[in-house]
Amino acid sequence: MAEIRIENVTKVFGDHVAVDRANLVIEDQEFLVLLGPSGCGKTTLLRSIAGLGMADAGRIMIGDRDVTYMRPGERKISMVFQSYAIFPHMTVRENIGFGLKMNGAPDGEIKKNVDEAAELLHIEQLLDRRPSDMSGGQRQRVAVARALAMKAEVLLMDEPLSNLDALLRLEMRAELKRLLREVEATTIYVTHDQIEALSMGDRIAVMKDGVIQQVDDPSTVYAEPTNRFVGSFIGNPPMNFLDGVVHRVDGAVSVGIGGNEITPAAALANAVAAYDGKPITVGIRAENMRALETETEGAVPVRVEVAEPLGSQNLLTVSIGDNRLKVSTHPTFPAEAGDTLWIQFPPEQIRWIDPQTEKVLTGGVVAA
Ligand code: ATP
Repeated sequence: MAEIRIENVTKVFGDHVAVDRANLVIEDQEFLVLLGPSGCGKTTLLRSIAGLGMADAGRIMIGDRDVTYMRPGERKISMVFQSYAIFPHMTVRENIGFGLKMNGAPDGEIKKNVDEAAELLHIEQLLDRRPSDMSGGQRQRVAVARALAMKAEVLLMDEPLSNLDALLRLEMRAELKRLLREVEATTIYVTHDQIEALSMGDRIAVMKDGVIQQVDDPSTVYAEPTNRFVGSFIGNPPMNFLDGVVHRVDGAVSVGIGGNEITPAAALANAVAAYDGKPITVGIRAENMRALETETEGAVPVRVEVAEPLGSQNLLTVSIGDNRLKVSTHPTFPAEAGDTLWIQFPPEQIRWIDPQTEKVLTGGVVAA
């Protein structure tokens, strides 16, 4: 069992809190992606787990072992770095077997593990070559094979694909996903690439300014962000945010946006009503609105600012009063800059956000 428990882990550099009371439980053999913008503390948290930078406060458990103050070698983890950190003067075989040799593993075990890891990564034919003669993608595979050869229960990966070109990245992403299903390791994978996180992770932990914002499976993080930051960081285009004001129309709660009215879903009407007379933020994703060519009851008229045909969809930038938003339509939907369209906002697709706390409202209360 290699469940990882991170309890109130804090790491401070001078007066900068790089990781602020992080709490996370990664289940045995789970693939958790730690996602966030540059500088949010992902690597610092990963290094604390690896023992490469001791946490200043909190506790880290791997299975039933408290590893908080253990040296890296004692933690039984394996790590893949962004820089690969493979040795150019050693052969691929020596590189992959390096960690095992340092741990004093017998030659037979080293050979067996190296051969197995090389096979998993399809680099058997490269074992006698030196990394200096290889491509970036091949070097990347060597780094991953070296980590797998350790057969550690915990695998930590820090932006392992970031040095690859876009196409290779796409290829390696799918390959890593397949691979990590085959190896029985609990994996934490750091990235700032939200597509990588959505496509690979069993769950995603989103970080900002040293604080974990949300931990959920990819579809929940995408569809039900707990706050504005998560909605804007995940998704391309990011979630749209519009300024609204809550009021009553014939006694029913309604939200005015640029002279138009939107009605909340019944389940959230009370939560929105608590903002009566006050501003509220409307969050909605581009693909969750419906664009119509003709005026329809309940649909809001908008002006098309930009129409971008993207092959599988048309992405429209439209304006409603002072708000600009992106609306995704079918590629055959006819729209050009200057046109007027009508947009439907399905109530169940709207996320209502407190403008001050930036948290998404849930049934009656602001999300914790
Ligand atoms: P990136 O994706 O750019 O690697 P990150 O999310 O991994 O970013 P960290 O490397 O964990 O971010 O850094 C978090 C914060 O802590 C940053 O503001 C960084 O400048 C700071 N920091 C990291 N390591 C040190 C250090 N050794 N000394 C001082 N400050 C540090």
